[in-house]
Amino acid sequence: MPPFQYACPTTLSEAVALLASRDDAKPLAGGQSLVPMLAFRLAQPTLLVDLRKLADLREIKVSAEGVRLGAMVRWRDILDDEGLATAHPLLKAAVAEVAHYQIRNRGTVGGSMAHADPAAEMPGIAVTCEAEISVLGKSGTRVIKAADFFHGPLMTALAADEIIVDVLLPPWPARRRWGFQEFARRRGDFALAAAAVFYDEDASGKARNVHVGAIGAGDTPLRLHAVEAVLEGRAIDEDAIAKADAAAAGAVNPHDDIHGSAAYRRALTGTMVERALRAARAR
Ligand SMILES: Cc1cc2nc3c(=O)[nH]c(=O)nc-3n(C[C@H](O)[C@H](O)[C@H](O)COP(=O)(O)OP(=O)(O)OC[C@H]3O[C@@H](n4cnc5c(N)ncnc54)[C@H](O)[C@@H]3O)c2cc1C
Repeated sequence: MPPFQYACPTTLSEAVALLASRDDAKPLAGGQSLVPMLAFRLAQPTLLVDLRKLADLREIKVSAEGVRLGAMVRWRDILDDEGLATAHPLLKAAVAEVAHYQIRNRGTVGGSMAHADPAAEMPGIAVTCEAEISVLGKSGTRVIKAADFFHGPLMTALAADEIIVDVLLPPWPARRRWGFQEFARRRGDFALAAAAVFYDEDASGKARNVHVGAIGAGDTPLRLHAVEAVLEGRAIDEDAIAKADAAAAGAVNPHDDIHGSAAYRRALTGTMVERALRAARAR
């Protein structure tokens, strides 16, 4: 790894001051992406600011405003939190697909959001659910909508001195229908494509408030508004599901890469949306 200095502050304000003290300082969460980035020389910060002693960032709070996940909440904490099974089952289902045991023990919500891998589950859930990201920097706090947060692969709206404090997912009604489907080459690998879907049903069985998100299908996690328009206000029957599959494949513009062609990923995205809708309907 390139040489760097290391600091381990005990308060958030101290952490922000350390980050602001140089242009190339970086926060360190669980190190699950940053350490490989250092090893490959893709990042060469001269100062790492370890966030591990900031206990306030480790809280999961469920309240009338929704689910607030502190930036240092790990995947393991989400999976172990029984309340989230009802407070946000979609989040829990998505996080169950993240990586392997060891990585789930160290990888964090804030690290995943800041790393902004387009195939990562948490950013996809944040965009699909219209999450709000609270960040703190030397000029104070700001709240960024998930739709404005991701700018491209490994690129976000964060300024160099800003720390993600928490991510707020809006409240989840008890009777909401949802599905999460992912396809990866091996269990625990990053998604080749994944889809997150939820909707509420009105008294006549029509889908309302439809939200559809795609992961691994572009440079950022995507909200598929064209698919939502197909489904909004109608029953989720076989015809609706077939139309949603086609609309999803048409709505994304993935790249060819070593794992598959763009055409394959487009088709796979449609299939993931189709399966997620079937799961939602059956639930
Ligand atoms: C082999 C492997 C497989 C993986 N598979 C998956 C997968 O299937 N799905 C998935 O979603 N993820 C996967 N990951 C990623 C993993 O889940 C972590 O979420 C991710 O690497 C971020 O790690 P971290 O939280 O330890 O952050 P770090 O590695 O410590 O930091 C990552 C980046 O975020 C910045 N950062 C960290 N915390 C903050 C903060 N609070 N505010 C601002 N910036 C911050 C750092 O400066 C750095 O730039 C995988 C990782 C590995 C190594």
